[in-house]
Amino acid sequence: MLSNSLNFSGGPGALPLSVLAQTHAAILALPETGLSILGMSHRSAWFKEVLSEAEQNLRTLLHVPDGYSVIFLQGGSSLQFSMIPMNFARGAKVTDSTAPAEFVVSGYWSGKAVEEAATIAPARAIWDGASQHYSTLPVFADLPRSPHASFFHYVSNETVEGLQFNEVPAALGVPLIADMSSDFLSRPVDVGAYSMIYAHAQKNLGPAGVTVALIDNTMLERIPSGLPAMLDYRTHIEHHSNYNTPPVFSIYVLNLVTRWLMHDIGGVDAMQRINARKAAALYGTLDAMADMVEVHAEPAARSQMNIAFHFKDRALDQVCIDAATAAGFSGLDGHRSLGGLRASIYNAVTEDAALALSAFLADFGRSHG
Ligand SMILES: *Cc1c(COP(=O)(O)O)cnc(C)c1O
Repeated sequence: MLSNSLNFSGGPGALPLSVLAQTHAAILALPETGLSILGMSHRSAWFKEVLSEAEQNLRTLLHVPDGYSVIFLQGGSSLQFSMIPMNFARGAKVTDSTAPAEFVVSGYWSGKAVEEAATIAPARAIWDGASQHYSTLPVFADLPRSPHASFFHYVSNETVEGLQFNEVPAALGVPLIADMSSDFLSRPVDVGAYSMIYAHAQKNLGPAGVTVALIDNTMLERIPSGLPAMLDYRTHIEHHSNYNTPPVFSIYVLNLVTRWLMHDIGGVDAMQRINARKAAALYGTLDAMADMVEVHAEPAARSQMNIAFHFKDRALDQVCIDAATAAGFSGLDGHRSLGGLRASIYNAVTEDAALALSAFLADFGRSHG
C-alpha cells in the first residue's frame, strides 16, 4: 500500500496530512457554510474571505512589500512563460534600444520559458547549461547581461534536474522575474528585489489549478493596450483574482496550506530549517553510497527540494523504484526527460519521511552493493 506520508512526487505531490483531513471534510460540508467546497459560488462572501485571507497570509509569510499585487491565476506556470513577455516586453516602455528579454537556461523548465517567450517577443538565452547536461548553475555576476534587456528571467529551482540558486541576481536596472514554482515558500525570499515572482501551486502550495503571482505595481505601466482581458495582469489585479470563475477548490486548499505553514510550522524561516535537515539527511546517505550512486547536480548547485540521482548500474534504477514502491514510497521515478530517480522533498514531506527514505536507500545500497 502506498502512503500519503511517503509521497516524494515531483508534483502534484505531498500535502500536509492535516490539510488533507480538512479537505476531506470540506468535500462534504464546509464547517463555515454547510455546503460542499465543490459547490461553493465564487461570488459568495465566504469565498471572497478565502481569497483575501490567502492573499494576506502570503503577504505575511513572505513580508511582501507595499506596492506589490498578489494574484491567483490559471494556466499553470506554463502560461506565465508567454504572459510575461506579452505584458512586459511589447508595451510602451519597449523602444528601439530595448534589448531582448534575457534568460538563464539552467534546465528543463527554464528552457521551456525562453522557447515560449521567443514566440511573443525578442528573447535570448545568455547562459545554457546543456553542455554539462544541466548539472551546474552559473554565478549571476559573471553573466553577460545587457542593462537594456526588457527583463531578466530565471528559474530559482530546477525541478527536473534538482538544481537550486542560493543567490539573488542584481537588477542592473532590468526587471528581475523568477519562476519559483518548485521552491516557493520553502525558504525566505527578498520579494522587493524582484519585479515579479510566480509559482503554481502543485509543488509546494496545494493542488494543481492555481498559480500565484507577486507583481511590483510599477510594472503595470509596461503593459500594452489591447491584450485579451484574461491575459492582461491588470484584469486579475482589478478584480481581486475573481474576474472569471477562479479555481475555488485549489485556492481553498492553498489557503489551508498557508495556515499550516504559519501556525503548525512557524513560517518560512522555520520551514527552511526543516527543509535543510531533510535535504542533508538524503544527500548524506547518497554521498555515502558514492561508489554505486551519482547525484545529478554538482554539490554547489544541489536543490533542497528535488534530489535527482541514478545508480551507476542503470539497471538498479528500476529495481530500487520497485522496491521503494513495495515499501510504501511513491513518486520516486525521475522525470521522463532525465530518467533515474528523483526524491522531491517539498514542504509537506516531513522530516520523518525523509529519514525513512534515507534509511530505505541505505538498506538498498547494502543489499545491492
Ligand atoms: C512544474 C514546473 C513548471 C510547469 O508548471 P505547469 O503548472 O505544469 O505549467 C514550470 N516551472 C517550474 C520550475 C516547474 O517546476
